Amino acid sequence: MSNVEVDPAELRCATADHDLPQVDVLSARDVPLGGPRAMTVRRTLPQRARTLIGAWCFVDHYGPDNVADTGGMDVPPHPHTGLQTVSWLFSGEIEHRDSLGSHALVRPGELNLMTGGYGISHSEASTTRTTILHGVQLWVALPEEHRHTDRDFRHYVPRPVRVGGAEIRVFLGSVAGDTSPVRTFTPLLGAELVLEPRSTTTLPVEAAFEHGLLVDQGDVRMTGTLLRPAELGYLGTGIDTLTLTNETDTPARAVLLGGTPFEEHIVMWWNFIGRSHQDIAEAREAWENASDRFGGVEGYDGDRLPAPALPHATIAPRKNPTHR
Ligand code: MN
Repeated sequence: MSNVEVDPAELRCATADHDLPQVDVLSARDVPLGGPRAMTVRRTLPQRARTLIGAWCFVDHYGPDNVADTGGMDVPPHPHTGLQTVSWLFSGEIEHRDSLGSHALVRPGELNLMTGGYGISHSEASTTRTTILHGVQLWVALPEEHRHTDRDFRHYVPRPVRVGGAEIRVFLGSVAGDTSPVRTFTPLLGAELVLEPRSTTTLPVEAAFEHGLLVDQGDVRMTGTLLRPAELGYLGTGIDTLTLTNETDTPARAVLLGGTPFEEHIVMWWNFIGRSHQDIAEAREAWENASDRFGGVEGYDGDRLPAPALPHATIAPRKNPTHR
C-alpha cells in the first residue's frame, strides 16, 4: 500500500489532559500566488482535515517578506462569487481596485471587506512604499439566501482594546467587550491579538461558535495545546472560555476566527464559491466572456487573469469532516 495523496494534511491531535477540550492543529502548505517572482503564501484553509471554521473558508498567511526579494503582491483583475474577502495586514500596504469603483489602500490594522455576492472583480498589488509585506487574506462563504447579494466594499479601523496582557483589534463580530459595526451574513468573529511575553489571556467566547487561532509569531498555547507560527488551532463548539498563553519572551501575534458552524455543502473552485459544478461552470464562462456579472477594474496596469480550465470531472461539494 502506498499513500497516493500528493498534498496530505497534517493533523496533530495533541492534549494529554483529558479535562481540556481537544484542539486540532492544522498545518499550512505553501502555495505560490503567481506573478513574475511568485510570492508564496501559507494556506491553512481549506485542507483535507477541515473546509470551514464558521463561514471562514480560506486562510492565507504571508510574510514577513522583503518585497525586494519576493517581488511583493501583484494579483491582476480576477473575479469572485459567493464569498467575501478580508484583507488584514501586519505591515506593508496593498492597493485595492474593484469593479464597484473602489480604490483603497489596505494598511496594517485596517479591515477591508469586499463582498463578491453575485459577482465582482478586483486587483491587489503591494505599493512601491512597501518594504516588508506581512498579513493575511481570508474568505467568508456567503449563505444560500445571500450568496447572490450586491457587490460591496467596507473599510473599518478598530480601536485596540486591552484585556490583561493582550491588545485586541476586533474587525468582525464581538469579543473582549468590543464589537465591529461591519455587517456579516452569518454570525462571525475576526480579531487580531497581540499577547505580551509570557502572558495568559482568558477570553469569554460564544459557545455556539467554533474557533480557529492562526499564530503569526510566537508560540501560543490555546487551551492546553501549543501552536507554533503559521499553525491554525481549531476548537469546536461548546466552549465559552478561551485561554491563550504566549510561551515566548517576545510579543506573540495571532488572528482569532470564529463563527457558528456553516452547515451548507459548498463547491469551491478557483475564486468562486457555488453549490454545484454548474454554478462554477457558469461563473467561469461569464468571466471568460467578460460579462457584466463581474464588471471591470479601472486603473490596473496590466491584463486580467484568465480562468484556469475546468477539471474534466464534476467538482464535488465539500462539507467539514465530523469533528472527533
Ligand atoms: Mn481576490
